[in-house]
Amino acid sequence: MNNDKKRPSVRYSGDTPPATLRAWCDAHADRVFELHAGGGYCTERPDGFAYDVLLRPGWCMSDDCCHTLIEPTVADMLRQLRAIVPCDCEDCMTALAKGGGSW
Ligand SMILES: [Zn+2]
Repeated sequence: MNNDKKRPSVRYSGDTPPATLRAWCDAHADRVFELHAGGGYCTERPDGFAYDVLLRPGWCMSDDCCHTLIEPTVADMLRQLRAIVPCDCEDCMTALAKGGGSW
Protein backbone atom coordinates (compact mmCIF):
# COMPACT_ATOMS: atom_id res chain seq x y z
CA MET A 1 0.00 0.00 0.00
CA ASN A 2 1.12 3.51 -0.76
CA ASN A 3 0.27 5.63 2.27
CA ASP A 4 1.93 8.76 1.00
CA LYS A 5 -0.30 11.59 2.24
CA LYS A 6 1.45 14.31 0.28
CA ARG A 7 -1.12 15.87 -1.99
CA PRO A 8 -0.13 15.99 -5.63
CA SER A 9 -0.56 19.24 -7.50
CA VAL A 10 -1.84 19.77 -11.00
CA ARG A 11 0.51 21.20 -13.60
CA TYR A 12 -1.00 24.11 -15.55
CA SER A 13 0.23 25.44 -18.85
CA GLY A 14 -0.99 27.69 -21.62
CA ASP A 15 -3.80 30.17 -20.99
CA THR A 16 -5.11 30.71 -17.46
CA PRO A 17 -7.83 28.10 -16.93
CA PRO A 18 -11.36 29.17 -15.96
CA ALA A 19 -11.99 29.03 -12.20
CA THR A 20 -14.57 26.27 -12.45
CA LEU A 21 -12.27 23.99 -14.39
CA ARG A 22 -9.27 24.77 -12.21
CA ALA A 23 -11.30 24.12 -9.04
CA TRP A 24 -12.30 20.67 -10.29
CA CYS A 25 -8.74 19.78 -11.27
CA ASP A 26 -7.31 20.98 -7.94
CA ALA A 27 -9.95 19.00 -6.06
CA HIS A 28 -9.05 15.91 -8.09
CA ALA A 29 -5.29 16.35 -8.31
CA ASP A 30 -4.97 12.63 -7.70
CA ARG A 31 -6.56 12.11 -11.13
CA VAL A 32 -5.40 15.12 -13.15
CA PHE A 33 -1.73 15.37 -14.07
CA GLU A 34 -1.74 18.40 -16.35
CA LEU A 35 -4.18 20.91 -17.81
CA HIS A 36 -3.21 22.88 -20.87
CA ALA A 37 -5.41 25.58 -22.33
CA GLY A 38 -4.61 26.93 -25.75
CA GLY A 39 -4.85 26.67 -29.49
CA GLY A 40 -3.86 23.95 -31.86
CA TYR A 41 -5.83 21.04 -30.46
CA CYS A 42 -9.43 21.38 -31.47
CA THR A 43 -10.48 21.09 -35.09
CA GLU A 44 -14.07 22.06 -34.31
CA ARG A 45 -13.18 25.69 -33.62
CA PRO A 46 -11.64 28.17 -36.06
CA ASP A 47 -8.97 29.25 -33.58
CA GLY A 48 -8.26 25.64 -32.61
CA PHE A 49 -8.65 26.50 -28.93
CA ALA A 50 -9.23 23.60 -26.57
CA TYR A 51 -8.67 22.37 -23.06
CA ASP A 52 -6.25 19.48 -22.94
CA VAL A 53 -6.03 17.29 -19.84
CA LEU A 54 -3.49 14.55 -19.27
CA LEU A 55 -4.75 12.17 -16.60
CA ARG A 56 -2.57 10.57 -13.97
CA PRO A 57 -1.51 6.95 -14.32
CA GLY A 58 -4.38 4.71 -13.19
CA TRP A 59 -7.16 6.75 -14.81
CA CYS A 60 -8.59 6.84 -18.30
CA MET A 61 -11.66 7.69 -20.33
CA SER A 62 -14.47 5.24 -19.80
CA ASP A 63 -15.09 4.60 -23.48
CA ASP A 64 -11.72 4.38 -25.22
CA CYS A 65 -8.95 3.91 -22.62
CA CYS A 66 -7.47 7.25 -23.64
CA HIS A 67 -5.41 9.13 -21.05
CA THR A 68 -5.71 12.51 -22.72
CA LEU A 69 -8.93 14.53 -22.83
CA ILE A 70 -9.33 17.28 -25.42
CA GLU A 71 -12.50 19.36 -25.31
CA PRO A 72 -13.42 22.80 -26.71
CA THR A 73 -15.42 24.04 -23.71
CA VAL A 74 -15.30 23.87 -19.93
CA ALA A 75 -18.70 22.17 -19.81
CA ASP A 76 -17.54 19.44 -22.19
CA MET A 77 -14.31 18.94 -20.27
CA LEU A 78 -16.08 18.69 -16.91
CA ARG A 79 -18.48 16.13 -18.36
CA GLN A 80 -15.56 14.06 -19.61
CA LEU A 81 -13.60 14.42 -16.37
CA ARG A 82 -16.55 13.21 -14.33
CA ALA A 83 -16.73 10.12 -16.50
CA ILE A 84 -13.14 8.92 -16.12
CA VAL A 85 -12.62 5.47 -14.66
CA PRO A 86 -9.74 3.54 -13.06
CA CYS A 87 -7.36 2.11 -15.65
CA ASP A 88 -5.02 -0.85 -15.39
CA CYS A 89 -3.48 -0.82 -18.84
CA GLU A 90 0.18 -1.65 -19.31
CA ASP A 91 1.25 2.00 -19.53
CA CYS A 92 -0.56 2.85 -16.27
CA MET A 93 0.84 -0.15 -14.44
CA THR A 94 4.38 0.73 -15.53
CA ALA A 95 3.96 4.37 -14.44
CA LEU A 96 2.32 3.44 -11.14
CA ALA A 97 5.16 1.04 -10.37
CA LYS A 98 7.56 3.96 -10.66
CA GLY A 99 5.46 5.97 -8.21
CA GLY A 100 5.18 9.73 -7.95
CA GLY A 101 1.91 10.00 -9.82
CA SER A 102 3.57 10.93 -13.09
CA TRP A 103 4.23 9.23 -16.40
ZN1 LIG B 1 -4.09 3.28 -18.63
